[in-house]
Amino acid sequence: MSSTSFKHNYELVNWEIDSEILGSKVVSGYKSSAPASCNINHGFIGTDCNINQLLDIAKPDNHVSISLRSNKDEQFTKIQLPKQTHSTEIINFQTLINPNIECDGDAVLLKKGEAAGIKTADCVPLIIVSANNNFGVIVHAGWRGAVRGIVQNAVNSLTKASGSASSTLTAVIGPAAGDCCYQVGEEVTKELNNIESLYFKKILLKENNHFSVPKYVLNTLISEGILAENINLLDICSICGRNSGDLSYFSYRREGQKAGRNLSFLKL
Ligand SMILES: [Zn+2]
Repeated sequence: MSSTSFKHNYELVNWEIDSEILGSKVVSGYKSSAPASCNINHGFIGTDCNINQLLDIAKPDNHVSISLRSNKDEQFTKIQLPKQTHSTEIINFQTLINPNIECDGDAVLLKKGEAAGIKTADCVPLIIVSANNNFGVIVHAGWRGAVRGIVQNAVNSLTKASGSASSTLTAVIGPAAGDCCYQVGEEVTKELNNIESLYFKKILLKENNHFSVPKYVLNTLISEGILAENINLLDICSICGRNSGDLSYFSYRREGQKAGRNLSFLKL
């Protein structure tokens, strides 16, 4: 299993967010600029906008939406967010927006014309799309979701919906807790030891139990047949800000209970 040719290219971009609570606000975040994924309409917005503030006040028990555009000439797009529970469930976009169906889940499957987001504070935001951006999935993968199979579920849902082989898919892994900072306890190492090979233990679980969920996700994507050159790992640590320049991301590990939430979105 080789992950040597995955990419690390990203650029800083601005978006305008419109909400009843914050009003109109221009916010910055990173997006992938790797050749395979630069045309995907997506972004990872950090401490410029605490998405949690909007969501808690809005409708804590259900999914909510936020309006966003990349420039003044564009219409605002409603980004739909699911109620996340650290599960391995994938929700179809049409199910998510159906007011008669109550559902939670940690990933949303989209087709052309649809847009969804997820919120994180150290967990991994993952985006996978099919050729020509016809179908896509946006995933919230914490260590639980990742170890229990949400990445495999996301790839399977996407190949099934799009009819494409996983070798034709493109993926972007956003800012999350890096192994520079993310030390895990027995709860995590036990579960890893139960299911993973020596490879995972040696490569991903470093000295003093420093663990990289982003690299775990990367390796899972490769195991599922996505080509390394079609995967872009942003390699920004949400805890210490490594590789993020002046821009930082919210971190539960760094800020505790009061931590805000980062917004990751995908618009097809
Ligand atoms: Zn770090």
